[in-house]
Amino acid sequence: MFICPTCYREIEEPEYIYGLFRPFHGGFGRRGPYPVCPCGKALTSSIVGNFSELSMLAASLRGLGVSLVCLVLAATADMRMHLQNIQITILPITIGLFSLSGMIALWRGFLWSSQRAPVTRLAPRAYGAAAGFLIPSGALAAAFLLGGMRDFSFFQRVLERVFS
Ligand SMILES: [Zn+2]
Repeated sequence: MFICPTCYREIEEPEYIYGLFRPFHGGFGRRGPYPVCPCGKALTSSIVGNFSELSMLAASLRGLGVSLVCLVLAATADMRMHLQNIQITILPITIGLFSLSGMIALWRGFLWSSQRAPVTRLAPRAYGAAAGFLIPSGALAAAFLLGGMRDFSFFQRVLERVFS
């Protein structure tokens, strides 16, 4: 069951259309088919996902999973560069992107919860995504700011053990 935040409609089986490039239309450069409302608005977004009901726990687990996979990949890539004495950049950028995505999801949750039914039922999904994005990136950002990981000695020790 999809819910459209633009026209307040519940849509049982939305139409799916194809689109390569649709900025400001619920996503950016997604290739697959995406659901649209009869009013023309996309029923999905890159950050929150489909505009259908999802519990806060499920949404936060989904956000947490995506965050952790991307952060680990970024840390691994940075570690390889660090071993070649190249300045680390990918992990801080990834942390910034996930913090930004989490804040956008949080804002969306505020907007949806202040709208009337049935759109309020989408709010837990946005709040869950915000939690899943903000908790790991916030913890890593705090660790960076406090200086504990500034020289990557922690990651170095972990990854040297993994790769050796
Ligand atoms: Zn609509």
